[in-house]
Amino acid sequence: MARYRDAKCRLCRREGMKLFLKGARCFTDKCAIERRNYPPGQHGLTRSKPTPFGVQLREKQKAKRIYGVLETQFRRYFHAAEREKGITGENLLKQLERRLDNVVHRLGFAASRREGRQMVAHGQFEVNGRKVSVPSYLVKVGDVVKIRPSSKMAARMDENLNAGRGAVPQWLDLDAAERKGTVRSFPLREDIQVPVSEQLIVELYSK
Ligand code: SF4
Repeated sequence: MARYRDAKCRLCRREGMKLFLKGARCFTDKCAIERRNYPPGQHGLTRSKPTPFGVQLREKQKAKRIYGVLETQFRRYFHAAEREKGITGENLLKQLERRLDNVVHRLGFAASRREGRQMVAHGQFEVNGRKVSVPSYLVKVGDVVKIRPSSKMAARMDENLNAGRGAVPQWLDLDAAERKGTVRSFPLREDIQVPVSEQLIVELYSK
């Protein structure tokens, strides 16, 4: 299960916006975007006009970074989205949104997708009564995602729930008392609040 292991804030600085990769820190003035909002590296302050290809590339990189997905897996999502009925770009985002690490973040159990990924990988959740430790697991309508009774991270999840950052989207239903969430429907495009222009990603991959 490959994942990006380098500094996360560099990714936000490269995209020129907050991608909220670090949870609570992102809401403080320690955020690197608040302090140094220019691209990282020696030539970070050098301005150059982006080409159309550069704009498309940045959109794709941004989507990958927000969801913590590497290139090979991202392409796999894209090809699956192409095969589905409907608009390819929207299908792509909907698939990414259905990942289990994203779902536990959107339910409020994890402060960031990255933390959600760690919690899932460490076997802290069950789906429909069965332990699932695969962050890329795609939830389906009717799935019940629940903190496992033996979870060692339950206190941390409760802390995140109490912090209550961001509303739970309409396609999910949270039962905080029971520490579980239910998938009511598949997400619609308007439920996905990521600052990504998916059409540019489709154009990039369609070359
Ligand atoms: Fe991005 Fe969060 Fe780092 Fe700010 S603190 S640069 S939002 S990862």
